[in-house]
Amino acid sequence: MTDNADLAALIRTIPDYPKPGILFRDVSTLLLDGPGFRATIDRMAAMVAPDTTLIAGIEARGFVVAAGLSYALGLGKLMLRKPGKLPGEKIGTDYALEYGTDRIEMHVGHVRDGQKVLLVDDLIATGGTALAGVDLITRGGGIVEQALFIVDLPDLGGAAKLRAKGIKVDCLID
Ligand code: 5GP
Repeated sequence: MTDNADLAALIRTIPDYPKPGILFRDVSTLLLDGPGFRATIDRMAAMVAPDTTLIAGIEARGFVVAAGLSYALGLGKLMLRKPGKLPGEKIGTDYALEYGTDRIEMHVGHVRDGQKVLLVDDLIATGGTALAGVDLITRGGGIVEQALFIVDLPDLGGAAKLRAKGIKVDCLID
């Protein structure tokens, strides 16, 4: 990770969201800033491994990042969606939240066997969401060797969990 203090300054922090005691890093203010968003995508695009052939984004803020990178690099984009949104045959992975569970889904047949897939999202915290994404892509036949985020909250350990699986984790801001 490089400094990227200019981009960090465009992210606002909202206390007590979604519940008391949580400091939410709100990237919507970064997305509002045209040059800031362009720099975000340009700097992330420069980190993408050259053998990547597909970019998987996690709904919803991950779609914004994935779409920018897909356009910048001329690569396809795979949508990992919240439950009930995909019209075709799909597989899903449930993952634990602090209270309860969540689920993401992926269309069957949209990853080729052995395809190198980059996983992207706006932020990694505990890593539950990203690990569910890795599980889906792997079950679909793809290989995740790299994951890319605008923000990593290293104290929450998610990036370390991905690295323990041999995945290279890059981010713009810690
Ligand atoms: P994790 O599963 O790693 O605990 O949480 C990451 C997921 O929740 C990502 O999809 C991310 O969009 C969302 N998320 C959790 N905390 C934050 C936060 O502080 N800011 C933003 N922008 N997203 C968060």
